[in-house]
Amino acid sequence: MKKYALTALTALVIVACQQKNTPITTVETAPTKPEQTEIWEPKPPVVSVDMENKIPSDAIVLFDGTNTQQWISSKDSTAVKWVVNTDKSMTVKDKTGDIQTKQNFGSVQLHIEWKSSEEIRANGQNRSNSGVFLQNRYEVQVLDNNNNDTYVNGQVGSIYKQAIPLVNAASKTGEWNSYDIIYHQPIFDAKGELTKKGTITVLHNGVLIQDHVTIKGTTEYIGWPKNNAHGKGPIKLQDHQDNSGVSYRNIWVREL
Ligand code: MG
Repeated sequence: MKKYALTALTALVIVACQQKNTPITTVETAPTKPEQTEIWEPKPPVVSVDMENKIPSDAIVLFDGTNTQQWISSKDSTAVKWVVNTDKSMTVKDKTGDIQTKQNFGSVQLHIEWKSSEEIRANGQNRSNSGVFLQNRYEVQVLDNNNNDTYVNGQVGSIYKQAIPLVNAASKTGEWNSYDIIYHQPIFDAKGELTKKGTITVLHNGVLIQDHVTIKGTTEYIGWPKNNAHGKGPIKLQDHQDNSGVSYRNIWVREL
């Protein structure tokens, strides 16, 4: 650092011309060397990616298709009653309730894949409605919107009733979708006042649909967002209790 500082401070002061009544002074700075703008330490941790399943080595795998041990029922903390399928997915078991991770998280990068029911059973908000909740409060909507209109701030990929997705990048009914979510939690001070709002970015099937959107508060079905102070919270998946038939697979998270 000293060497760079000294180099940076080295300047050639040339008195180009001094005339009796009109002194002219020219100051020239030495050209910046490439090394002066290079940072070598600390080095970022090395993360490798399994190119078969695309899971980063520092990710926490929340569901790999073999069991639901990382999850519990939201309503009573008992074992998950959703159905684990032979294709390494799990399907919402209707009216058994939401499920959530045992572990609590703050800011995260979350990868999750989902598909709607192949069979069309209902319309509007009742067709394959589920959702991914960050910190148990902020919902990224899961819905089958193929030939199925609903309010756009509640459509697939919306931050429910807060942020309309930029585009609808959904797969066809009954086909797999991916969500890659970058979530930064809201910050509250010691008095419980919100000092920094949370933000969320969502890629749907690799397409940007939520671009660093500010979270207004909890995603309410009725009423307005609330901002009660909270700490880390579970990731929750919704049982909308209308025979949604939504399935999930390949869920992993990286803490930020
Ligand atoms: Mg929902």
